[in-house]
This record gives sequence, structure tokens and C-alpha cells, in this order.
Amino acid sequence: MISNLIASMNHPEEIKAMMKLYLNGQFQHTATPDQKTIKQISDREFSYQILNRVSRSFAAVIHELPTEVQDAVCAFYLVLRGLDSVEDDMSIELEKRNAMLRTFHVDMMDKDSDFTGIGDTDDYRLLMKEFHKVAGFLKKLDPKYQAVIIDICKRMGEGMAEFSKREVVTSQDFDLYCHYVAGLVGHGLSDLFAASGMENPRLSESKDIANSMGLFLQKANIIRDYHEDLTAERMFWPSAIWRKAALSIDEFNTRPEAPESLAVLNELVTDAMRHLPDCIAYLRLLKNPAIFRFCAIPQAMALATLIEVYNNPKVFTQNVKIRKGLAAKIMVEIKTIEDMSEFIQKQSETLQSKISLTDPSCGMMVDYLHKAVVKLAQSPVVTLDTEEEQEYRKVS
Ligand code: MG
Repeated sequence: MISNLIASMNHPEEIKAMMKLYLNGQFQHTATPDQKTIKQISDREFSYQILNRVSRSFAAVIHELPTEVQDAVCAFYLVLRGLDSVEDDMSIELEKRNAMLRTFHVDMMDKDSDFTGIGDTDDYRLLMKEFHKVAGFLKKLDPKYQAVIIDICKRMGEGMAEFSKREVVTSQDFDLYCHYVAGLVGHGLSDLFAASGMENPRLSESKDIANSMGLFLQKANIIRDYHEDLTAERMFWPSAIWRKAALSIDEFNTRPEAPESLAVLNELVTDAMRHLPDCIAYLRLLKNPAIFRFCAIPQAMALATLIEVYNNPKVFTQNVKIRKGLAAKIMVEIKTIEDMSEFIQKQSETLQSKISLTDPSCGMMVDYLHKAVVKLAQSPVVTLDTEEEQEYRKVS
């Protein structure tokens, strides 16, 4: 906590935001449930407890959602964490792992399935060992939610299996891999929101921009995680881009400051920024304030991350993260599309000031930032109202 306060010393509003979250209990530690507790608590209770353990930042935004959609999103998230734990478990032989990925959507619903031992931390291993409780929670959801969750899990598992045998080479490969592991989450969430009736049913027709929401988040993480992934001997950076400057991916680690190294990093950040105008278009469609925050906060964090890593040689040698204070400020301050607009405008200015004119992708970056600003300025907000809603507006 002290080091976080010191890091935000020149940003008093960040300190204020951290204190506010602290007083709200947001930084409170949730203990891992023990075996005795697990036997006593309901499937739903277990699911929320394990959610707190596997993703605190996600748990914070999910708790704000209206109950019905909250349960569906919680189950969706845990199902995908389960699938991802299978994808990431290199101790399972490749063919067996691929078979597991392809059938996870069926096996997870079977009470006799046993996923014990899968997962790289104690919390993930507990999630997998007790997955029958997540399945129990899922089975109690309205069938319309179950159908979305199972369908996305099936398609994601197939995509993960495909990429286990295929390198991410081109920018198109990168988009496709990110589509499977994140863009599909955007599709699924849109379908869940539309099915809940809390957002316009036509939201689920806007699949392109829902996909971009996922790609923007996923690419920000993949770029930021260079050092962590290198240490874990996995890499998702598209080779057609990094091979312009190196023969092997670990070379960047030995010459982080070289202009060619930074040009690769900046090209990837620029590629991620390509999705920002779509993300803005998506956020403008949302009507429910809690759903808006749930969608906007991770996007704001991803934007801040991309700006933090842009032209930053530290990415190659250590794990770079945005200040806890900045994350707190995002959590506290972003409530409406206007707040998000203001945030994007400010972040764009910061990024503009970091762009070097000698960087090969600087022209593209300026172009994407311009497109984002134009999208923000578009007025009025596009609505996807149904005919009934339009009638209602006319009358009221
Ligand atoms: Mg994975």
C-alpha cells in the first residue's frame, strides 16, 4: 500500500481514489475456502468465493451487475478460466490436451468428470478440483444463459486446440488467436446482456465491435506480458512482426533500448490501437449504467496499459503494470460515456506526447488516435432501439 501511495505522489486524485476503494473494502483479502467450508456452502457461494480468488479486479466490477446477469457472467467467467487452465497446462500431453479442450464444454457438465491436478496455482487447482460446483451453479441458470456459455466454451476450445499446433505468424493469425480466446468472450457477453433484457436485443448482432472489445484487452495483455511469458517459455507475439528485428524472441531482452526493439513494440501497440474506435462504438450502444461500467473499466485499464508500455524498454526486462493509483482512479471515476470520453481524450494526449517521429508506425498511430477522437465526437449516440422503444420514446 505504501509503495502504491508513493508511486502516485504526483497524482493526488489517484491517492484519493485508492483511499476511497480502501474504505469500501475493495482491497480486503478473501481467504481460500477450506474443504469443510466447501462441503457446506452452495454451488453459487463457492463460485463467487473462487471468483474472488482467481480475479480480484474482475470480481470488483462483476459485483456491481444486476443479480441475474451477474450470476450468468460469473459462471461464464469461471467456465472460461477452467478452459484456459486446460490450455495452459503443458504437463498434459498435446493430443490429450487438445481432446480435452474440444470436449470441455460437455465434460464440465458431467458430474463424474475429474479435473484434479490441472492449474498452475493453488486457487486454479481448487477451481478445477471442485469444478462440479461451478457446473452445479451453471445448471441452475436460465437455459438461455447456459446455451450461450456452452456454445462459446465449445468454440473457444476448438480455437485453442487449433492454435496449439500453429504458430502466430501474421497479424491476421494474431487477430484470429485473440478472437478465439477473447473476441468470443465479447460475443458471449453481448448475447448474455441481450438475453437478460437489460440491453437492447440487437446488441448481440453487433459481433464485429464486440470482437474488437476482446481483441483490445487481449492484445494489451499479450504485449505487456512479454517478460512474464518469456520466463514461462510461451510467446504470442506474431513472428512476422518481431522477426523484422530479431532472430529469436529473447533477443529483445538483451537489447531493450535498441530502436529496432522499440519499433517492434510500438508496431504491436499501434496494431492494438486499431481496435479502439470499435470499442468506443460498442460502449456507446450500452444503456444500463452497471453493464456500461463492467465493460468500460477493463477497456480503460487496457488503454492505460498500452500507453504505459508504448516505447517503454522496461517491457523487455520486467513486468510493467499501470500504477495501482491509476487503476483505482479508473474504478472510481468512470461511470458514463462522458467520463470515458474524457479519459480517452486525456490518454490520447499522453500518447501523442510519447510518439517519436522516427518511429516507423507513428503515422498509423496518429491515424488511429484521430479515428478514435472522431468516434468520440459523433453525435448523437447511436441507439439500437427496438421499434417498441422508439414508439415509447415518441409517446413519453
Ligand atoms: Mg491460455
